[in-house]
Amino acid sequence: MPLLWLSVVLMVVGYAAWVATIAWLVAVPEPTGDAASLRAFLLMGPGNQFLMLLPLLPFILWVARALLYARMRASGVQMTPTQFPEGYRMVVEAAQRFGLRRVPDAYVVSGGGEINAFASGHGFRRFVAINSDLFEVGGSTRDPEALRFVINHEVGHIAAGHVSFWRGVATNLIMSVPLLGPALSRAQEYTADNHGYDAAPQGVAGAIGLLAGGKYLGAQVNLHAMADRAAWETGLWLHLVVWRASHPVLTWRAHALRDRRLPGRIMVKPSPATAWFPRFHPTGSQPSTTWPYPAQVLEAMNRLEPRYTGAAAEEQFGRYPGVSYSVSRDEIRLADPTPVPRRLAPPRTAPPYAAPSSANPPYGSAPDARSPYAAPSSTNPPYGSAPDARSPYAAPSSTNPPYGSAPDARSPYGPMPDTEPPYGSMPEQ
Ligand SMILES: [Zn+2]
Repeated sequence: MPLLWLSVVLMVVGYAAWVATIAWLVAVPEPTGDAASLRAFLLMGPGNQFLMLLPLLPFILWVARALLYARMRASGVQMTPTQFPEGYRMVVEAAQRFGLRRVPDAYVVSGGGEINAFASGHGFRRFVAINSDLFEVGGSTRDPEALRFVINHEVGHIAAGHVSFWRGVATNLIMSVPLLGPALSRAQEYTADNHGYDAAPQGVAGAIGLLAGGKYLGAQVNLHAMADRAAWETGLWLHLVVWRASHPVLTWRAHALRDRRLPGRIMVKPSPATAWFPRFHPTGSQPSTTWPYPAQVLEAMNRLEPRYTGAAAEEQFGRYPGVSYSVSRDEIRLADPTPVPRRLAPPRTAPPYAAPSSANPPYGSAPDARSPYAAPSSTNPPYGSAPDARSPYAAPSSTNPPYGSAPDARSPYGPMPDTEPPYGSMPEQ
């Protein structure tokens, strides 16, 4: 508290000096002597004029935060013990978990369909707001853990001090600095994600799926496929997208949340060695000459069994509340994303790529050692003819069991696969 009073005194003195300076500049338009050079110093150059206006920034932010909170109070659906009690309980539990002295206010707001949530405050009051399209996912027939992750992420922002007023002033200033500002914001987001993970590790797949695929399709987004692409996708343009983003890109975020041994990446992508599964597709940074032909892909896909035999048709796209599905959610979103049995992968010493003579040869006529689509049929027999216990199309394999069946102390996503070379073992380009 003494620090608080000190900051109040400093603020009052600072604002008084600022107001007095402005008043003097207005009241004494033509001073003489030292005062004249002071006036010239204060008014000359855009830099100094900007500095003179700087004290306005905290005031503007203060008003903006007051109005934002007032909007919640005026139009938001406030979570209470009788209104969305499940969500409110998550907020209260998060506050207790992270050692907040007071329970923050919590609101559900209509976000025009946008999947988003935020935390803010006014004075010493703090609140979280969850857009309705995101909040919906927390229903008991949907994915309450995903909502728990999001709520703990937002309360985590409060617990970590990210929404404190003066920090907000500083953050607003720093955000105008290219590279540095967004990097600070991304670091804060990783911190908040850590809070979400701490309370709801099983909500990670749902939260990432929700953000990446929307509120229905999100249940089918494969977390491992998203996370592994953070390790594979590279290039300057990709990094430019990352560097300008206020939030970590979703592939990097998934990667940081899945593998808890390393902090989230701020500027440089994770190493390819941190991928958990073999790569199936060429990456966007590889030249198109390494990309498969349509016939190759169709042939490869035709060789694959339907991913989930017996699954109802509606399970392919979108899951709806109140419908019971035969395939568990985690079986889809935590499955091995590699569609070919790894034991049948061609050896690393496969012959080098030879350009096909015709523009669009049939599959198999010009094997490309670097492409999984071109694997010779003899080494990659039709599904079922040589069952591989580790095939992603069989029942969940022993190397990647469904969540909970083989807990790994480091991660809720099961043990990491062995270090067998990736299928096709394409060198990084
Ligand atoms: Zn956040």
